[in-house]
Amino acid sequence: MGSEKYDDSLNCQQSYPQKHKILENQRLKRHIATPNQASNLNPQTLTYPINVLVNLPVHANISGPLTYLHETSLEAGTLVRVPFGKTEVLGVVWVGVVEKPKAPQTHNSEASEKGAKGEVREENDPAQQSAQKSPSIVLKHISSVIEGIPALNPQWLELVGFAAGYYQRSLGEMALQALPPQLRDLDATQIARRLKKSQSKSQHKTHNSAPDNLPSLSPAFNREGLQIKPTATKAPSALIENHHDLTHEQLNALEVIERQTGAFLIFGNTGSGKTEVYMRRVQATLAADPKAQVLVMVPEINLTPQLEERFKTRFAGLLNAHGSSAIVCMHSAMTPAQRLQSWLAAHSAVARIILGTRMAIFASLPHLKLIVVDEEHDPSYKQQEGARYSARDLAIYRAKQLGIKVILGSATPSLESWHHAQTTPGSAQPPRYHLINMPSRIGQAQMPKVQIIDLNLQPRGTVFSNQLLEAIKDRVQRDEQVLILLNRRGYAPVLHCRDCDWKSACLHCSAFRVFHKVDRTLRCHHCGVVERVPRHCPSCGNADISPLGKGTEQLEELLAELLQGVRQPNGQAMNILRIDADSTRLKGSLNHQLAQVHSGEVNILVGTQMIAKGHDFRKITLVAALYPDAALFSSDFRAPERLFSLLLQAAGRAGRDALLAPTRQSEMWIQTQYPDHPLFQALRHYDYTAFATQQLLEREQGYLPPFSFQALIRADARSQSDAQLFLNSAREHAEQVLLDIRSQRANSKASWLSVEPTLYPAIPMTLQRIANIERAQMLIECGSRLMMQEFLKHFQGRLQALQPQFKGVVRWVVDVDPLTI
Ligand code: ADP
Ligand code: ZN
Ligand code: ZN
Repeated sequence: MGSEKYDDSLNCQQSYPQKHKILENQRLKRHIATPNQASNLNPQTLTYPINVLVNLPVHANISGPLTYLHETSLEAGTLVRVPFGKTEVLGVVWVGVVEKPKAPQTHNSEASEKGAKGEVREENDPAQQSAQKSPSIVLKHISSVIEGIPALNPQWLELVGFAAGYYQRSLGEMALQALPPQLRDLDATQIARRLKKSQSKSQHKTHNSAPDNLPSLSPAFNREGLQIKPTATKAPSALIENHHDLTHEQLNALEVIERQTGAFLIFGNTGSGKTEVYMRRVQATLAADPKAQVLVMVPEINLTPQLEERFKTRFAGLLNAHGSSAIVCMHSAMTPAQRLQSWLAAHSAVARIILGTRMAIFASLPHLKLIVVDEEHDPSYKQQEGARYSARDLAIYRAKQLGIKVILGSATPSLESWHHAQTTPGSAQPPRYHLINMPSRIGQAQMPKVQIIDLNLQPRGTVFSNQLLEAIKDRVQRDEQVLILLNRRGYAPVLHCRDCDWKSACLHCSAFRVFHKVDRTLRCHHCGVVERVPRHCPSCGNADISPLGKGTEQLEELLAELLQGVRQPNGQAMNILRIDADSTRLKGSLNHQLAQVHSGEVNILVGTQMIAKGHDFRKITLVAALYPDAALFSSDFRAPERLFSLLLQAAGRAGRDALLAPTRQSEMWIQTQYPDHPLFQALRHYDYTAFATQQLLEREQGYLPPFSFQALIRADARSQSDAQLFLNSAREHAEQVLLDIRSQRANSKASWLSVEPTLYPAIPMTLQRIANIERAQMLIECGSRLMMQEFLKHFQGRLQALQPQFKGVVRWVVDVDPLTI
């Protein structure tokens, strides 16, 4: 059963698609064609064929780089603008041998025409698809080379190449999407202006080297004065402003990280001082190498301001020495201009500490020496559209590629990471990750005591049991804060007519429209349709239509009612604040609301999972989860893992203030109909290990990840049967695909070649219809990552070829290592 006997690591070179293998360093460093290759051209117009990646969002096996001409050869990774259809777009010079261009260079456009019916083909340009096979279109010239920005380095190109291959996307899409949008949108002159600005922003005097038009072959970043000079005056310790005495666990963690190489998993309780460990390691890394850059990732945009503040306070010395660009953020809530600024700072190695969300994994970091992935278990690290990459997994890849350390941290590691940090019984192999335990919370702070309320013993329809309500009152009256967690925004998930049983179904989705009382609307959270609440039942005219179920809005209202008259110790009325996607729609509103909580103004905080993660609320001593049960019986095998992690994270918000905690035991309340469920029992003792062990056993028996590898092919179509028929027809080719793979490698003895992928019949997705599009999926499971990769690569071709026969199919996508099934 164990898949370990195959090389199943994400890093395995073999899984790297063959055609990207040309990415050998020396070839990357140099130009892609030699002058004598082009020498059969008119010497007056000596040109070089250059492979350029542009954003062609098509699958990997269709679109490689396009070929353009230029008067000089260009270093791979050089940014250029090229004509593309009627417009001009940003391109990245790619490596690759362009065979002898036959003058006049022409080539055929068959590949792109064939592609014109594929997945995202609208954007496809009948332009210059791969030069090799050529006879009919004249190749176009590169319009301009973007000056002042050194070429992206070979490691970056390789990362992008790997990601494209692994996640089954086109190279061009991967590469171009990994760059800041403004870089794609601005022309060369505008970019030059930005560069100037960013250079004057960084405190360094730029030595005025004459701008050379030819991209230099010297190592990147020695040019244009973008390089950082090590400041000898700043001793490493001067970079640190604030010293804590480290705990034994923190010291141990740092020692292990210092001594060992590779990947580390810090299994550390919330508030155990993990962030402190990250900061210390960052400091050590920067101290050891005057040019070093470090990347610290967090899952949520909301968590970046807090992290930024901590790092900026801690590394004030670094900011003083190197200017404000020494620490930059990267996330999608930044303006395009800010993103470009950060990117340039990172790319030019001015930024030393890069804090960001998943997108930051693609930052160009020429001196990257350390990666930290905080809350590594968080599903937000997986991109859910377009190229569905996992930033956590790519962090592991990138660290291995560069031979640097990567630290994953979590109180509830993903079961994949946990598995990789365990010694396999009977195996002589050390685990893939070094496991570091940090079970104790800083100071006296203890985890809250878990109180489980059996809803079966409560009157029907109970929202707050009396015990819980009393506990809440008690906390408020002592000026402590309460957090109520309910993962459902809006007032009620459904509006209902009791007479005729009408429900507020969305006409376009297989979902209900949610009742929002504040603006009296019915909103579909999937397709976004908004409508005013009808006065009468649309079906029978009954005036008495009522909300079914509870959302955060209603909880807020209900609590205010139930706790009427409850006062804070200072005699003032109590404050309830709701934080969810609705309350924080306006820019800046979340920060404002969080500040209200931190200042102590708020007594009770009601919210969705948004507030459960990461925030360092000091005065919260009671956390309550109201309806956690749905996840226990989900069809998604990861639902329990997510629930456990959410509840533990939420519990971690309580009792963080060590000064408050010794006198007052904090509490975590759970109201459930399944009080004896093993998940709650494990939670009661905060026993992640027991939970993980039991879950992994189930996964192993069910041959589920991490014991097998999965991919989902999803099809969107006009009708459910179209979608399923398409997938099932493709499935019939699986046998042949396998035969092809094996016959291509007839001489190979690789053990993975014998592993069979399993293709399950297509089924409707849980959310079957969104915005009138029917959705179906087909699950593929395989015991070998290599075989999965190889299989998908070939299988895509079949899907590509089949699609034209299925007119109703709108699009299809591949999700490798999907997180939701
Ligand atoms: P985690 O990241 O594991 O949740 P943090 O690093 O945020 O934990 O630490 C929790 C709190 O404890 C923070 O307020 C931090 O400043 C403080 N802290 C961390 N390490 C120490 C230490 N060695 N001594 C005292 N306080 C510490
Ligand atoms: Zn009705
Ligand atoms: Zn809808």
